Amino acid sequence: MIRNKYRRTAIKAVAFTCLNKFPCHSLPVDIKNIVASFSNIRLVPYSMQMQRRNLTLKEMIEFAESRDSCVDFYNKDGGKYIIYYNDVDFALLRSGRYRWNIAHELGHILLEHHKRSDKLRLFREGLPEQEYILLEEEADLFASYLLVPHPVLKALNIASALDISRYCGISQKASLIRAKDYLKWFSSTKFYSSAEKRILVLFQDFVDDELAKYCSRCKYKTINNQAIRCPICSAKLSKYKGEDTLIYPSIEIGKDGRVKKCLCCDNQEISSDAEFCKICGSPVINRCTNLHPFDSSCGSMAEGNARYCIMCGSSTTFLDKGLLKPWHKEKEELLKEKSATQQGLLEMEELEVTPF
Ligand SMILES: [Zn+2]
Ligand SMILES: [Zn+2]
Ligand SMILES: [Zn+2]
Ligand SMILES: [Zn+2]
Repeated sequence: MIRNKYRRTAIKAVAFTCLNKFPCHSLPVDIKNIVASFSNIRLVPYSMQMQRRNLTLKEMIEFAESRDSCVDFYNKDGGKYIIYYNDVDFALLRSGRYRWNIAHELGHILLEHHKRSDKLRLFREGLPEQEYILLEEEADLFASYLLVPHPVLKALNIASALDISRYCGISQKASLIRAKDYLKWFSSTKFYSSAEKRILVLFQDFVDDELAKYCSRCKYKTINNQAIRCPICSAKLSKYKGEDTLIYPSIEIGKDGRVKKCLCCDNQEISSDAEFCKICGSPVINRCTNLHPFDSSCGSMAEGNARYCIMCGSSTTFLDKGLLKPWHKEKEELLKEKSATQQGLLEMEELEVTPF
């Protein structure tokens, strides 16, 4: 355990900078391509090196001095490195441990362990025991910040070691240790640091897609993970799997849940406690109509395109009063519009390639 808080923060910063620099932000983190994005680092699988040098696995492990992975600081003046990782051992591949190994070795490089200890290879026999252990811990800490970004796990509502293993692509054994770290961070973190906020922004699209729910009937996608029922057609929602979606246009609604002007008579004087328009009596809030006083009533506020309540599936005031079109009519029109746009794009493409 690295006791120096400042060192931990510094290692976290290096890992977050690394994520920040790389253009693709989803889990599992694409560790191979992150390494490939460094022009001074080469990633060589054991299998490739074995073929090149005509080595058996046993000889390769002897060369690397490790069953897992190693780094060669082969060009000291040019600052160039090679990471070798075992891609031959099926257990390492299947468990995802090889990903951890690559991230660990990248940690040694980016934390400048070779330069610090003035070594071309870091191995147990070549270093004082205490120093070796510290460098190993630092590299592991780097790997965990890189592969298991805590703010992203929190945004995904991850609650088990198994989920960490699955999402982060690390072995189940490693995920047990990481789950403890995560819980500790989770319970002690009240505010995000600026680096953590930045990480969340980077992974926002991925998180939204992971949490999104989808309606196979009307092709609506929502990122509201409280939603049980589709707000457009009231069908049950399921997990979004990248299907084709439709965007149902929405009536503009203010922060207090009221329309800015009456949808029926255009009256703009809508007081902050109004449920209905004082001129024509239309609803100014889109709300679930399930309001039975003696029953389990709902009455939740709804979004500007919601025809149905996302909690109980009852119709909304805007649908009942005809302020929103029935969903199947809207769907028909949207599909027509979509195919017309696609047709238009195709025609434009054809025009572009036609020689004059
Ligand atoms: Zn190491
Ligand atoms: Zn639907
Ligand atoms: Zn009105
Ligand atoms: Zn409801």
